Amino acid sequence: MNLDNLRHSCAHLLAHSVKLLYPGALNAIGPAIENGFYQDFDMGKWKISEEELPKIEAKMRQILPTWEKFTFNEVSLAEAKRVFRDNKYKVEMATEFAKGGKKLMTNNPGDFLDLCKMGHVENPSKELTHFKLLSVAGAYWRGSEKNKMLTRIYGTCWPTEKELNDYLKQLEESKKRDHRKLGKELDLFSINQLTGPGLILWHPKLSTVRNIVESYWKKEHSNENYKLVYTPHIASMDMFVTSRHYNKYINSMFPAMLHQYIEGESAPDYLVDEQLKPMNCPNHIQIYKDRPRSYRELPFRMGELGTVYRYERAGTLHGMIRVRGFTQDDSHIFCTPGQVIDEVRGVIKLTRKMYEVFGFTDYQVYIATRPEKYLGTLEMWNFAENSLKKAAELESLSYKIDEGEGVFYGPKIDSKVKDSLGREWQLGTIQFDFNQPSYAESTKEDLEEFWAMKTFKDKFKTKENLWKYLKNLGRGFDVQYVDKKGEKKQAVMIHRTILGSMERFFGVLIEHFAGAFPIWLAPVQAKVLPITDRNLRYAQDVYKKLGNRGIRTELDDRNETLQSKIRDAEKEKVPYMLIVGDKEESKNQVAVRLRNGKDLGQYSLAEAISEIKNKIENKIVD
Ligand SMILES: [Zn+2]
Ligand SMILES: [Zn+2]
Repeated sequence: MNLDNLRHSCAHLLAHSVKLLYPGALNAIGPAIENGFYQDFDMGKWKISEEELPKIEAKMRQILPTWEKFTFNEVSLAEAKRVFRDNKYKVEMATEFAKGGKKLMTNNPGDFLDLCKMGHVENPSKELTHFKLLSVAGAYWRGSEKNKMLTRIYGTCWPTEKELNDYLKQLEESKKRDHRKLGKELDLFSINQLTGPGLILWHPKLSTVRNIVESYWKKEHSNENYKLVYTPHIASMDMFVTSRHYNKYINSMFPAMLHQYIEGESAPDYLVDEQLKPMNCPNHIQIYKDRPRSYRELPFRMGELGTVYRYERAGTLHGMIRVRGFTQDDSHIFCTPGQVIDEVRGVIKLTRKMYEVFGFTDYQVYIATRPEKYLGTLEMWNFAENSLKKAAELESLSYKIDEGEGVFYGPKIDSKVKDSLGREWQLGTIQFDFNQPSYAESTKEDLEEFWAMKTFKDKFKTKENLWKYLKNLGRGFDVQYVDKKGEKKQAVMIHRTILGSMERFFGVLIEHFAGAFPIWLAPVQAKVLPITDRNLRYAQDVYKKLGNRGIRTELDDRNETLQSKIRDAEKEKVPYMLIVGDKEESKNQVAVRLRNGKDLGQYSLAEAISEIKNKIENKIVD
């Protein structure tokens, strides 16, 4: 069964029901989406909230038996405009479809006339039985803030009752694990209107975890002979013109800082205008190019936990997963063509190792191949694609092919990990780049592309000025090395991340572990819980000893019952609780309890410490 057809058909059923219940409501679009569908409405004088969903669902079930099948009629634009004269959204879409040369089809299952593209079930009354409405949200018509805010109802629909229930259960579980909810409950991070949307404030606890992850990342990369660097957050905009990030990615870049003047300076000494960096690569290339490189220095693996800024529309921001500022675990490998396979294998090995350490044992790799529009020669593409496949095969990595989904500058391998709920998250990537390491003169097409951008019109005023500027810069950085014979050759450049970005990775990590970080990462690894005030002195002693051994420990010396101390420590997802009462104190012991409620009984303090240390050092994920 085609799930998209099923879900899109269910959106029609929803539209019909809402129109019956709320006369005057207008239905706009109702597409299938991942795991469900939505339907947008202009509710007119009505307002609906999630409380109304059961009523709407009941209506859907009531009319479903009359929905025997979708019958289709092709209509002219004039006819469509007449039939849907009360629904400006349908008229707008019909006009657009007609302009695009598409057929206009109306359909009327169960006496409900609608207009849409094809893709429906055969037997709605039989097939649309396993659905559920989920939520209500606001959504701008056509996604633009300039248009009216419509009411969007989300729902899901499945072929069987079991699949529906499994999905609803998973949804319930993912709500509990939502990193935005846990981020607040566990005091991990926040986003603040004053610091700005899409920009993460890392609180002390999560910063502790990030520090550990970054140290681990740096150690692993140093071991693999990566040279770690630091580069600034802003750069001359000339660099991103030369790299051509401007014309390809301007919609996801923050505006250039065109310096009209510097506040308080009468004669600004600015010679360049700047740009918040959306990528680290051009910076790394400048380090590589600071002096001539011999083949003996290759492969040159340059790594940085590099912070970049990309503009994302406010409506698409999502906790730590989709943000405007993030730190990539970025590296660029400069090498000879003969070294490519080994380099890719090295990245695959390191990726595998690091994912396993974080408990991601299940992941899928996709090789994305040449898209329709591409830079570089066919020969380069074939070489690069074959190298990626060969490296994957040599590493016994099974992969899927994403035909034509490569970036215009080169093919890539994407890694998607499966989390504990079976959801896929894209983290790492290995990408060839035929653009930045090459060099070409600027063309008149470049000129037209740049002249079309307001940023460049404002800066250069005339096309002639802009052309002089572009001609002077050219395209690409001409990244070379000197080979054995003393000849200059263009280096191969590979971009790669393993975790993706710290922000996204932590969003995924929080949801994967439901906030219960493995002990080596846990912000607080152990909590000492004295049963009464009598045991306070001994508890302090235990607390100090753990701290001295490098275990991140807290002491709960509040005047609370043991039960409530345990409850709070469990809520904070602290891996180890060390409970100390008279009995433990008299024998120099601790009673060990885990955050999952398991009681391990009495241990000598030394044993408890060595058990905890052992788990930390071996990065045990339980
Ligand atoms: Zn339809
Ligand atoms: Zn890069």
